[in-house]
Amino acid sequence: MSRFAGKVAVVTGAAQGIGLATARLLASQGARVALLDLDAARVPAGVGTAYSCDVTDQSAVDRTFDAVAEDLGSIDVLVNNAGITRDNLLFKMPAQEWESVLTTNLTSMFLCCQAAQRHMVPARSGRIVNLSSRSALGARGQVNYAAAKAGVQGLTATLAIELGPFGITVNAVAPGYIATAMTAATATRVGSTPEDHQQEVAARTPLRRVGQPEEVAAVVAFLASDEASYVSGQTLYVNGGAR
Ligand code: NDP
Repeated sequence: MSRFAGKVAVVTGAAQGIGLATARLLASQGARVALLDLDAARVPAGVGTAYSCDVTDQSAVDRTFDAVAEDLGSIDVLVNNAGITRDNLLFKMPAQEWESVLTTNLTSMFLCCQAAQRHMVPARSGRIVNLSSRSALGARGQVNYAAAKAGVQGLTATLAIELGPFGITVNAVAPGYIATAMTAATATRVGSTPEDHQQEVAARTPLRRVGQPEEVAAVVAFLASDEASYVSGQTLYVNGGAR
């Protein structure tokens, strides 16, 4: 397919889960994809070009985005997907868990958007899609993650205003429960199995199932495509109808 023919897309946290599904979809629709993760060796071969990049490290981010533009020719699409959880109730949460979740889920987006706009603004075009979460609306045990993901929505709305005049759209996708390593780890932490945990969540979700990474990737790809040319500053929930 030629939906992304001639486009270069950067996907962060692309070694697995939603990031990998997104990278695969964009590549299958014609994009040349740069897959960034902490360890490039963990990125499956054959999807695109893998780069080791800790997205919380400003100099690593700047270096990597310049390398992508040099290697692949441009940066047309940025998918800010890398993220972590460190769940705990407020009274038990070490400040370090607050810090690391804010840094990895929110500050990283500031750094990657700043690096990407250096390439997008001169080109007078670009697409940025940021991963928020349903948890932005409030989630027990996730004061750090909810704050970061709500912050992502504010960052998205603001960058849409700042970058719009340069032909760049900025949107967010806020998934509900998606079956990935992240939610499997949550299941284990609460003393369940991934299967049982998914069944519990499915029972209270209108569509009666949890989501799959490919279902989020499809929405990211839409927002990254030419078809979404007049959509900017939005957060789209991908949540099986749940509130
Ligand atoms: P995964 O944990 O499966 O994948 C996240 C990837 O990001 C991992 O490969 C991880 O590497 C990488 N990563 C973590 N920290 C960094 C860093 N500093 N620099 C570069 N890469 C990093 O997560 P999901 O696929 O489930 O989630 C993807 C995004 O979607 C996240 O932003 C998440 O918050 C969001 N989301 C997920 C939901 C879900 O239900 N799964 C729901 C709502 C939002 P490593 O494994 O080595 O840490």
